[in-house]
Amino acid sequence: MSIYWNERVKNLSPYVPGEQPRDRKFIKLNTNENPYPPSPKVMAAISNTIAAEKAQAPGARLRLYPDPACTELREAIAVRYHVRPEQVFAGNGSDEVLAFAFAAFFNSDTDDSNTALPVLFPDITYSFYPVYANLWDVPFRTIPLAEDFSINIEDYKTACGGMIVPNPNAPTGLALPLNSILAAAEYQKNSNHVLIVDEAYIAFANTPGVESAVPYINDNPNLLTVHTLSKSASLAGLRVGFAIGNKDLIEGLCRIRDSFNSYTLDRLALAGAAAAVSDASYYDNINGKVIATRDRVSAALTARGFNVIPSSANFVFIRFPAKTGAEAFAALREKGILVRHFNKPRIADYLRVSIGTDAEMDSFLEACEEIEGSY
Ligand SMILES: *Cc1c(COP(=O)(O)O)cnc(C)c1O
Repeated sequence: MSIYWNERVKNLSPYVPGEQPRDRKFIKLNTNENPYPPSPKVMAAISNTIAAEKAQAPGARLRLYPDPACTELREAIAVRYHVRPEQVFAGNGSDEVLAFAFAAFFNSDTDDSNTALPVLFPDITYSFYPVYANLWDVPFRTIPLAEDFSINIEDYKTACGGMIVPNPNAPTGLALPLNSILAAAEYQKNSNHVLIVDEAYIAFANTPGVESAVPYINDNPNLLTVHTLSKSASLAGLRVGFAIGNKDLIEGLCRIRDSFNSYTLDRLALAGAAAAVSDASYYDNINGKVIATRDRVSAALTARGFNVIPSSANFVFIRFPAKTGAEAFAALREKGILVRHFNKPRIADYLRVSIGTDAEMDSFLEACEEIEGSY
């Protein structure tokens, strides 16, 4: 607390990111990064940009501001997702895109003279949502997940100021079928409110009926899908995310961005990201490996008496047979394995474990066995 902080800063309760150890000796399963390297085409695109710079060749542009409209990246995304470039917004990680979306589409108490209806999201979900709501003074109401952590979409058919949901959800890994997402979009459309679907993990979903909502943006002008290159494109270090939706929604996001920082993506990130979205086959292959490892680890843990929530993401949400979440977290850390523990009601005995390489997950399974055996 400082006497120089204004009321806004005093009242924030910021998101706490997962630990990024500096000494690298951990098996790092705590922030849902992809264990495989990014596409070689990403490295080539970034190196070409740097090579041009070193040679001061015609492509050398680092002394100039980047393209504020991110034109080439948006065109590459449009090709990949079969949409038009004006239906795409690119930002500095999907966290930034989400923060802009809260500012652009959800009414705040201040601009609606305390009559704004609350935005809805699950009680157990991505913990940045309440942070953004508080930052922009957006009132919100959380809807409890069912006992088995599933989302009942009927619970969201109630007067509100809009809705946001990750599909698959985090940290549970459970996914909603497309027809539930479309029912929610329809409901929100009828009261002129926005539905944001955060598809950070959709590339890892192989459950029948679970699909991206992107093909439905033309029928639902109130539907915004949000995407990230951090997980499925192995580029958490590059900081690139994007949104796909009706062009008027995209324009709303641009209005917020250009009231804040017009150049949110640098030239190296733009080059690398465009290469990544253009290399679907490379990513289908590595993400297929992540899915296979996830399913193998889930089956092994279930056989050992762990409670494993069926995952459609690149992590599993698990409860040890005879350890509390805090005990299991500490014991794994002791063995050099970092996972994520949320000390929150209902989920304090669960750990979220990102899927690493097969070798990393074998070490994890071995550690789990030792920890339970020592009880
Ligand atoms: C990781 C994650 C993000 C953030 O992604 P960045 O693009 O790295 O900012 C957004 N939403 C959910 C649900 C996530 O898990």
